[in-house]
Amino acid sequence: MKKLNGTVIVTYRCNARCTMCNRYKAPSRPEEELSIETIKKLPPMYFTNITGGEPFIRTDLPDIVRELNKISDRIVISTNGFFTDRIVALCKEFPNIGIRISIEGLEQTNNEIRGLPDGFNRGYETLRRLRAMGMKDVGFGMTVQDRNAKDLVPLYELSDKLDMEFATASLHNSFYFVEAKNIIHDRPMVAQNFENLINELLNSNSPKKWFRAYFNHGLINYIYGQKRLLPCDMSFDTFFIDPYGDVMPCNGTKDKEVMGNLNTQTFDELWNSEKAEEVRRKVRHCERQCWMIGSVSPAMHKYIWKPALWVFHHKFLRFYKKKKYSMYELKVVRDYRDGKVTKEQLDRCSTCDLHAVVNNGLSAASQEQLKNRSGEEIVAEDIANQQK
Ligand code: SF4
Repeated sequence: MKKLNGTVIVTYRCNARCTMCNRYKAPSRPEEELSIETIKKLPPMYFTNITGGEPFIRTDLPDIVRELNKISDRIVISTNGFFTDRIVALCKEFPNIGIRISIEGLEQTNNEIRGLPDGFNRGYETLRRLRAMGMKDVGFGMTVQDRNAKDLVPLYELSDKLDMEFATASLHNSFYFVEAKNIIHDRPMVAQNFENLINELLNSNSPKKWFRAYFNHGLINYIYGQKRLLPCDMSFDTFFIDPYGDVMPCNGTKDKEVMGNLNTQTFDELWNSEKAEEVRRKVRHCERQCWMIGSVSPAMHKYIWKPALWVFHHKFLRFYKKKKYSMYELKVVRDYRDGKVTKEQLDRCSTCDLHAVVNNGLSAASQEQLKNRSGEEIVAEDIANQQK
């Protein structure tokens, strides 16, 4: 079997309170979360993203990484950076893994959006300590929306100064985020901040940043509700697995789509099943047009000529120009400026659905525990017990 790109959602428990994600209200029960036995059944991977919830809530995360390290060429963990000591301890054992800490803007904006006490300083301090230890693959991840768009370039400059990676995203709606109402309101303002970032990236000397510029160009296209710039091939050579062992194409669908379950099946069995084929047929006709790094990065490698041509055009044919990129290269951005399309028309192209009933993807047992207590209370108690 050829190596795949996998995302392992080790838990749905989270201690942050992000405004754009309600997952913290819908945690998984620890007893049901992916066991080491199930992790051992995963296939060989060329890239593995470990995410949550907040993955470091799991005190057995080092055991999970130890197993994944045997079958994956590269591991990156997405975290809110709160559990500094746990992160530092893990990185001492695995200095080659990558760590991406979600920081949603400069201090005030970040703390407002993430809702973690002193979140910015904790995240920043964690990154600084990892750097001081000599960790190479560390960086920020930022989800750009109306209220933090102005911090986009300043945060990039901070990451650049620290010589760290800077990953961007924008608002999405799905069962994974337990959210259907995320939407960008002031598209030209947000796009302008992306345009500024793209020009910073194109003016750098790093080929990796030039390709990041293309990804951010795709984000402008996405927030205007347009068709993805590259095909989506999720579930063909890429998979997600949730805390219950359910293997899915991605985390962008409205409801959870299941190809099979790794607790009860082998990976080969579920990957080659009729159910998996059915999910692949759905992916082929998917209308959601997500532009998240998890689904775009494999597509950028597979259809490399497209971003490569874009980079060549913007970096080299405009070598002497300081402003190499304009958001008005996208027809829809021009059309909106010129009044040919309205905000309401663009809103309808997005996945925002104010009347949607969100399916949170929880198991019946995880759902049951929410009858008498909130997800926040359950997780807070859980963490307090861990820290006794
Ligand atoms: S566009 Fe791709 S990543 Fe998004 S929901 Fe559809 S299949 Fe998933």
